[in-house]
Amino acid sequence: MTRSVIAKRLSRRRRYVKGNGQRPTGGRRPPLARALAQLRRIKQRFARYIGKTYGHLAADCATCPTPCCADAQFVNVHIVRLEAKAMLATLQHSPKYGPAKVREVLARAADAIARYGLTETGDTFGQTYACPLFEPGVGCLVHWKAKPAACIQHGCYERWEDLPETGTQRRVERQVAALDAAVHGAPSTWLPIPLWLLRAADEADESLDFRDEAEPPPRVQTAREGFASLD
Ligand code: SF4
Ligand code: SF4
Repeated sequence: MTRSVIAKRLSRRRRYVKGNGQRPTGGRRPPLARALAQLRRIKQRFARYIGKTYGHLAADCATCPTPCCADAQFVNVHIVRLEAKAMLATLQHSPKYGPAKVREVLARAADAIARYGLTETGDTFGQTYACPLFEPGVGCLVHWKAKPAACIQHGCYERWEDLPETGTQRRVERQVAALDAAVHGAPSTWLPIPLWLLRAADEADESLDFRDEAEPPPRVQTAREGFASLD
């Protein structure tokens, strides 16, 4: 499997995710817990769609010798504030992980910011980093509950014609941005994952204060969803 054919055409995202014109919806803000649950449903619905439609065409990430998530020259995934809160809450409330893993991930995020010179200004999409949510031999720590849409979309394919269409990813990211704006009263800036993780951790008392809803695991575990499902 070559990596020349890939679906993570992240640089294109800047056209619609940065300064994307999303407006706060006004009115009453949804409580954080409800927003996080809704965010999770949006992501999981998208993951099921990608898995069922394209999973059989993509390389198996579980056996990949060079996982892209650890490639500091490659990852430039951006998220919004609500997504960072979802990631921290997922780890915090995971029966396998909990607060110790949150601290570990935050330490890796701080290290990534320093090591790769990540900043909130300038051409943030030009910045790349090894993702602090990736663990060798394990995969993405927030695989099923809080993975960014760009990561769900991404995969390695032999043929360009097998790549997933991008319209659904754009729709999902618009939904994520709208939900984020609604819960916070204003849209937040799309930033590299490590930056938002640390900022969200500063709001930890609020961000981690929600009850996790019991949800069944995905019924279809495709090759595309090859990273170990941890949460
Ligand atoms: S998408 Fe999967 S197969 Fe492709 S480089 Fe990343 S981990 Fe490897
Ligand atoms: S959030 Fe998960 S899938 Fe996305 S780059 Fe990080 S480890 Fe990889």
